Amino acid sequence: MYPNRMYVNGQWIDAKETIDVINPATKEIIGTIPNGGKKEAKMAVDAAYSAFKEWSKKTAEERSKLLLKWYSLIEEHTDELAEIITTEQGKPLSEAKEEIFYANSYISWFAEEGKRIYGETIPASSPNKRIIVKKQPIGVIAAITPWNFPAAMITRKIAPALAAGCTTVLKPSEQTPFTALKLAELAEQAGIPKGVINIVTGDAEPIVDVWQKDERVRKLTFTGSTRVGKILMRGAADTVKKLSLELGGHAPFIVTANADIEKAVEGVIASKFRNAGQTCICANRIFVEEGIAEEFSKKLAEKVAKLKVGNGFEEGVDIGPLINEAAVRKVQAQIEDAKQKGAKILVGGNSIKEEEGFFMEPTVIMNATDDMYCMYEETFGPLAPIATFKTVEEAIERANNSPYGLAAYVFTENMKEAVYITEALEYGIIGLNDGSPSAAQAPFGGFKESGVGREGSRYGIEDYLEIKYISLGLK
Ligand code: ADP
Repeated sequence: MYPNRMYVNGQWIDAKETIDVINPATKEIIGTIPNGGKKEAKMAVDAAYSAFKEWSKKTAEERSKLLLKWYSLIEEHTDELAEIITTEQGKPLSEAKEEIFYANSYISWFAEEGKRIYGETIPASSPNKRIIVKKQPIGVIAAITPWNFPAAMITRKIAPALAAGCTTVLKPSEQTPFTALKLAELAEQAGIPKGVINIVTGDAEPIVDVWQKDERVRKLTFTGSTRVGKILMRGAADTVKKLSLELGGHAPFIVTANADIEKAVEGVIASKFRNAGQTCICANRIFVEEGIAEEFSKKLAEKVAKLKVGNGFEEGVDIGPLINEAAVRKVQAQIEDAKQKGAKILVGGNSIKEEEGFFMEPTVIMNATDDMYCMYEETFGPLAPIATFKTVEEAIERANNSPYGLAAYVFTENMKEAVYITEALEYGIIGLNDGSPSAAQAPFGGFKESGVGREGSRYGIEDYLEIKYISLGLK
């Protein structure tokens, strides 16, 4: 039903062994992918290295045209791609369609942005010299992507890489490989030359090890856990690869007494419960000013109680399954720990339909304190813990008290307060009265242990370029 072979040098290839892919809503095996290894990983680099010679020489205009063809084919195949996402990842079909739209927006954005890779001339201090600055593609890029956005995490890396003139080897998550392979099939149909995009599926470590050691791979771009990000950062040292890392988050969500409460509740629903809470910018710690905490909690709990949990293909489902059993257990452990430390459950709190799939009720808890597991460790599930604060200074301090620095949210209608808080937060992305800040035109990335570099926006293409300075002597 889905493309189920690896795509290397324009060929669709198998491996000796296969890996099963599971539908998290039914626990059924939906297909298998090749368990590629060192051999295929090296073949992919050979192909990307060889393709780089021609691809990097094409004009930005030529590359843009091919990217836009890919864009059109993805648009035409939205329904099919969305079905693949819902089947292998679980999110509701409507969200899967939104993901395709979002994923594709990176392709159209970078197809244009690739034409605006400007250089510079700098006035020299010597009359006999001229200083010229050019930008060039870095070379072969290795991309490693997670399962929570099986399409968007791929296009966010591949589109700027290709637009800049780089070629790529990619390993998608073994849990959601079919979306990646379908995207590759459409890239092939669009006429993107062989070797420019290569996809190797299989166990991460042997594949990534080959890419880490190969000095022809000049950059590694990764989205996933901070734990794996640190391993990759260490591994990149031996060949001094450039790095883009988009790692974990633990987003604070601050609601002050000056907030529009309805708007803030909607913001939490958008930020916390999209993809069943499995995004790295999900609200994880909700800090509400004491005076409005009761009203806010009640309204949030009422809304959350109406969210429908189920198979993403069912009509009206808001929350699909979590990706696997371990994800359910983690949320349960956080809820259990919070209960023992005095939190009160307002709604939800249980796993459901466990015999069918990995379902977890959307949950809101009150009286959360900073010593609770859910308040210092990323949840990646539909649990919204509410804590209260007395002063804005206290909220900022607690929000910043985290090794993570990806997204933060602030809800207030008071402009001075908004400026004060947003400037004090140590986070790369701030949703000010906005629960869904991701967009292709905006720089996405984090402070501290949430990562290195930015994706999307004009900054996102810079991460795929080297700066070359030519000192022109005229004597
Ligand atoms: P998550 O917790 O979101 O699954 P991971 O960081 O475990 O995030 O996985 C993200 C991506 O990193 C996946 O493609 C996965 O296969 C890959 N990965 C996992 N472990 C390693 C590793 N040790 N080296 C390289 N890649 C890895």
